[in-house]
Amino acid sequence: MAQYTAKIIILGSGPAGYTAAIYAARAGLNPCLISGFEEGGQLTMTSMIENFPGFPLGISGVELTDKMKQQAVNVGVTIINDKINEVDLSQKPFILSSENGNCFQTESLIVATGASAKWLDYQAHKKYIGKGLSTCATCDGFFYKNKTVAVVGGGNAAAEEALYLTNFASKVILVHRRAELRAEKILQERLFKNPKIEIAWNNVVYEIFGDKQVSGVKLKNVITDEIKTVDLNGVFLAIGYKPNSEIFKKYLNLDDDGYILTKPDSSATNVEGVFACGDVKNKSFQQAVIAAGTGAQASMEAQRYLTSL
Ligand SMILES: Cc1cc2nc3c(=O)[nH]c(=O)nc-3n(C[C@H](O)[C@H](O)[C@H](O)COP(=O)(O)OP(=O)(O)OC[C@H]3O[C@@H](n4cnc5c(N)ncnc54)[C@H](O)[C@@H]3O)c2cc1C
Repeated sequence: MAQYTAKIIILGSGPAGYTAAIYAARAGLNPCLISGFEEGGQLTMTSMIENFPGFPLGISGVELTDKMKQQAVNVGVTIINDKINEVDLSQKPFILSSENGNCFQTESLIVATGASAKWLDYQAHKKYIGKGLSTCATCDGFFYKNKTVAVVGGGNAAAEEALYLTNFASKVILVHRRAELRAEKILQERLFKNPKIEIAWNNVVYEIFGDKQVSGVKLKNVITDEIKTVDLNGVFLAIGYKPNSEIFKKYLNLDDDGYILTKPDSSATNVEGVFACGDVKNKSFQQAVIAAGTGAQASMEAQRYLTSL
């Protein structure tokens, strides 16, 4: 068990965390970044990123986050591979305890712990992530030009993803386990009107199959138990995200879905000296470049806070 003290600690090694750390290091604050056990964050689950500026031919998610890490190391960020499982934000310095039994003390904390997509059956399906199975139509839709895809879900996110995918795919099958959608009426009307969209009511994805890439699914009708095989090229899950904010809920204000609430136009939380950035606070725009942007903002706000002490 080791004790660490730092002026500023950043939790998370996705684009938000690395960017916050790079800004803090360049401001001379000797930051410590605790990476969590998913080093690189969600981007490492995708094969190709084509919408992060600066990479005209695209870049793999793993390579992009490796570059961010290298840049952080180069400017002097201390990176510790550990995960925080308990925090005490009731007094200064804040105290953080980790899974590896370490204890951290800090004047200022940046929470960049991201969000985790909900998967139908993570263990069974993880081999297809980035190989036909995705949780992000904005990110991966482009790769499905003139292909058949399925979207799983029945809420606004599923409806929006299905509509978005019709810009590329020749056919979009919306798989929903009930006989009606939860999505707003206006979105439902757009879905019903779109000739590329077919809805598989009362169905669940029973199996995803394919050799190296997804090549089809088995759908099970929950009323009749009938199982139908559908050949397709991609499956997009839109069954929700879970922000990684559980350990903060005793101290930080969260919205009903668990996203950290921050002050308007700011990354400051309700606890002075604690800032939040990236997907853990951003329900509507979960993209790497936005996570990086809010990481920079959180770091600059933390710098001002530390200067004011
Ligand atoms: C399959 C997929 C494909 C995507 N493709 C694209 C794309 O093409 N373009 C794009 O812009 N966006 C894409 N995204 C979205 C993008 O990955 C996210 O918006 C972005 O990664 C969010 O960054 P973040 O830093 O907020 O959090 P994350 O990337 O979620 O990283 C969170 C970090 O926090 C750490 N952590 C969690 N809990 C703790 C803890 N208790 N203590 C310490 N550390 C902790 C984790 O280990 C992880 O390193 C994709 C997402 C997915 C799932």
